[in-house]
Amino acid sequence: MNDQKKRRVLLKVSGECFCPPKERGIEMSSVIHLAEQVAKAAQEGVQIAIVMGGGNILRGAQFKAANTSIQEATAHYMGMLATVLNGLALQEAIESVGHPTRLMTAFSMDVVAEPYLRRRAVRHLEKGRIILLAGGTGSPFVTTDTAAAQRALELNADVLLKATKVNGVYSDDPEKNPHAVLYPELTYEAVQQQRLRIMDQESIAKCGEHNMPVMIFNFRTAGNLERALRGERIGTLITRENG
Ligand code: UDP
Repeated sequence: MNDQKKRRVLLKVSGECFCPPKERGIEMSSVIHLAEQVAKAAQEGVQIAIVMGGGNILRGAQFKAANTSIQEATAHYMGMLATVLNGLALQEAIESVGHPTRLMTAFSMDVVAEPYLRRRAVRHLEKGRIILLAGGTGSPFVTTDTAAAQRALELNADVLLKATKVNGVYSDDPEKNPHAVLYPELTYEAVQQQRLRIMDQESIAKCGEHNMPVMIFNFRTAGNLERALRGERIGTLITRENG
């Protein structure tokens, strides 16, 4: 038996990873691309838990902004269901490239997924299965970043990896300000004090409180996802130490 401690990561993939840039919905070629990279790292022995976003389908907040008759809480539940759609697609994609998975949901959906139980999730990870955690936290008015922080902590992950469409955390919006600089390292305090909007303030605070490192990186850069999963330092690393 190999008792060497395996690297365990919580990967947060936003809905954007499920379709080409500027598109919406689920495009299986994008999902397969994601699946191949994740499966490769898992085959090398990295234990991987994935929290999926749902923004490629819908976000609860968009209904509020559009002033529709849908109650805000209902809209958030719709967003949580969107993450289940992504989870089902990602499960098919990962299994089609030959790696076993388990889809687990924060609320009961017995016909398509297992209920999320922490101990069972840990067991799946130990057995080398990639676990797909859908349904966010199961509660409205938060995002899947909160779910990612929560699950990273309870599953004792070594790091929370956030795959995004930007290279990391910048001093300003790089799409609007050409002088914006990328921070390779940051402290939780700096992210909060400077109100750097890369994750919910609450989730970054939670990671800080429990010393959970967070790495933000661009998943569209070739090879980045695999590098991040293997433990290479890319993008921006947020820790307690001074950056
Ligand atoms: N959501 C929620 N509770 C959760 C997680 C998600 O209510 O614990 C809803 C929320 O409306 C959110 C949507 O589901 O906007 C989709 O998730 P998110 O916006 O985090 O997706 P991403 O931006 O990562 O694609």
